[in-house]
Amino acid sequence: MFTYAGNIHIHSSYSDGSGSIEEIAKAAAKAGLDYIVITDHETMLGRREEGRYGKVVVLVGVELNRRANHYLALNLDRVVAGDEEDPQQMIDQVARRGGFGFLAHPFERGSPFIGRGAAFPWDRWPVFRFQGIELWNYSSQWRGSCQSLPRALFHYFFNRNAPFRQGPPPDALRLWDCYTRRQRVAAIGGSDAHASIVPLLGPFSLVIFPYPFIFRTINTYVVLEAPLEDDFSRAREQILRALREGSCYISYDRLHPGRGFRFEVRKGSLPYAMGSELPFQEGLSLHLESPAGKRSLLRLIKDGKLVFQGRQQSLHYPVTAPGVYRAEVFYRPGCGRSPRPWIYSNPIYIRGASVGSGLEL
Ligand SMILES: [Zn+2]
Ligand SMILES: [Zn+2]
Repeated sequence: MFTYAGNIHIHSSYSDGSGSIEEIAKAAAKAGLDYIVITDHETMLGRREEGRYGKVVVLVGVELNRRANHYLALNLDRVVAGDEEDPQQMIDQVARRGGFGFLAHPFERGSPFIGRGAAFPWDRWPVFRFQGIELWNYSSQWRGSCQSLPRALFHYFFNRNAPFRQGPPPDALRLWDCYTRRQRVAAIGGSDAHASIVPLLGPFSLVIFPYPFIFRTINTYVVLEAPLEDDFSRAREQILRALREGSCYISYDRLHPGRGFRFEVRKGSLPYAMGSELPFQEGLSLHLESPAGKRSLLRLIKDGKLVFQGRQQSLHYPVTAPGVYRAEVFYRPGCGRSPRPWIYSNPIYIRGASVGSGLEL
């Protein structure tokens, strides 16, 4: 298997971001990323600039809707109309055009001190036939942590890790675990990078979370069966397929780079990546490996419940029952400090003979 680091959910100057696609690609190269996904608000003007920028593969999707129910739609050749009131229509329309999408920041809280308190969560449930969820969004979570002015200043200037100590929003994890019992739902992490420029006194201004900074925060690593192709359109296909199928994992790279993480199921010596759906059978085993050695706390989750936890670098776990298995790795920053949420894998779906119907939300 081959792993590539990327950053998803980026705004450029085609909407309310401050950088051109070329500048953003340069920042991504500096941060060591292999791919990025630009998703401007309701425009795909950046599509003509898709391509390889040196080592970095630049893909262009779109973020649909303005008020609520934001949807990150990929693999489209032109923009689809949003639908605030009936987002199911929009989800189905994206699929009809050959695209696929992720519910963006579904539980966003906002901050009374930023953007006049605006928040853009999902408020139409349930929805179906979407392909994924943006489980962890850097800008959104950071903003939600700023419920007082001193806290906002502290979290910006002194401790940018503090808002991420709890991991992704618990509601988002619960919702995801609930959906995956019935259908495959891929989880991605997003930065929601804007690199907004705030004018200060005279000629001075402040760039809020510049692109090179935010590209080292919440990243999504795709896991491919073959190396990423040099040819752009083939590389594009490889990355989009991995995102759509959930052959990927999320890492909060500010704690420690997530490259080298593995989670797979093996049948004999044959490995199946995250996102795979297999019928339950004898002889299956899960293999989990952390790139952070003794600093790792491994957690295995089955059907939304913790079934194993241990301070170790790797785990071999025989599958004795069908279920939706996913892994988390917490990272211990130093001696005596408690482990922090770091890596979230996509599930491996071991299906039993019958899958229940209906969805209890
Ligand atoms: Zn949004
Ligand atoms: Zn956005």
